[in-house]
Amino acid sequence: MLIVQKFGGTSVGDLERIQNVANRVSATKKEGHDVVVVVSAMSGETNKLVSFAEHFSKEPARAEMDMLLSAGERVTASLLSIALQEMGHDATAMTGRKAGIVTDKHHTKARIEDINPDTMQSQLKEGKIVVVAGFQGVNSQGDVTTLGRGGSDLSAVAIAGALKADLCEIYTDVSGIFTTDPRIEPKAKKLAKISYDEMLELASLGAKVLQNRSVEMAKKLNVNLVTRTSFSDEEGTLITKEENIMEAPLVSGIALDRNQARISLLGVKDRPGIASDIFNKLAAAEVNVDMIIQNKAVDETTNIDFTVPVGDLSDAKTIVDSFVQEGEINADSYNEDICKVSVVGVGMRSHTGVAAKAFSTMADNNININMISTSEIKISMVIDEKYAELAVRSLHDSYELEK
Ligand code: ASP
Ligand code: MG
Repeated sequence: MLIVQKFGGTSVGDLERIQNVANRVSATKKEGHDVVVVVSAMSGETNKLVSFAEHFSKEPARAEMDMLLSAGERVTASLLSIALQEMGHDATAMTGRKAGIVTDKHHTKARIEDINPDTMQSQLKEGKIVVVAGFQGVNSQGDVTTLGRGGSDLSAVAIAGALKADLCEIYTDVSGIFTTDPRIEPKAKKLAKISYDEMLELASLGAKVLQNRSVEMAKKLNVNLVTRTSFSDEEGTLITKEENIMEAPLVSGIALDRNQARISLLGVKDRPGIASDIFNKLAAAEVNVDMIIQNKAVDETTNIDFTVPVGDLSDAKTIVDSFVQEGEINADSYNEDICKVSVVGVGMRSHTGVAAKAFSTMADNNININMISTSEIKISMVIDEKYAELAVRSLHDSYELEK
């Protein structure tokens, strides 16, 4: 098999851990696999480099930041390659450029446009272990670019896609994806497999494990992703195509998003185009609107409620207030003490009663539901933040996820 193994910052956090990584890579190679390793900077290293730059300037040039930050990953890639060579392996360390990663020109948040895997392929053919510095590429002018914080996951997935690898393993300090946050529900169980779409909907459960952008890319490139820990041999969670999961459970997990705020617009003029005006302005300000509810109009006005991430609230307020000033909306109010609980599972495509069960679970616990939204594979409910943990635990119980 051809396996891409990606090791995050904590997995390469010190020299001893880099040696551990070398041992693991060596074992994989000795099993007869071809191995490409993608590494992050040692934990804390990227932040340290950022702080160095900020010592000199409040707004350092982005191109220089990319030169600087890409160095962290090069350090790890070189050290790992040296450690592997010392163990008798033929290994070679590569920058993003040498690995053929071409990005657009947006310094510090570049997007991968293309990968030319020829160099990696020829090195693999010679039997070498290829060690790639993650998080970086090169634009069409030959300048170094970086992919945004946490971007070495993306490097790994993109490389796995370009090489048509059999597997892309993402090693972190978390052992996989759980049915819910084990800190809230200790009975949470690790999932053996989950589909790309479920993983995307369960983003909050995967937040510390891998970026959503990487899951989206894995889905697009059809890369089998495994998240697992580098600190033990415990098996991780496979994130794959729905068709590869034989017996999908009705519900795979319960996600909690505490980072939501609700905006209520009262007495909105009921005219064609009003929603378009409000939400286009919000979109232009890059406010991320999630759930929207509009009531039936009474007396030529209607009420609209929507949710945004807490961090977008002040931008949203400014925009909404301008509509109040223009007399298009009578009044607005805000509530940050809410959260969103979501029940996710591909099984609900073909089964009825899944939503009803979620609502009765809330009812049994006397939790009032403020807003509801559903997709094919998700039921989300906005409730008061103080009930967050109770809701998660009760739902976990109702769908028997501990089994
Ligand atoms: N070192 C980079 C960061 O800290 C990229 C990564 O670790 O994925 O954001
Ligand atoms: Mg990371």
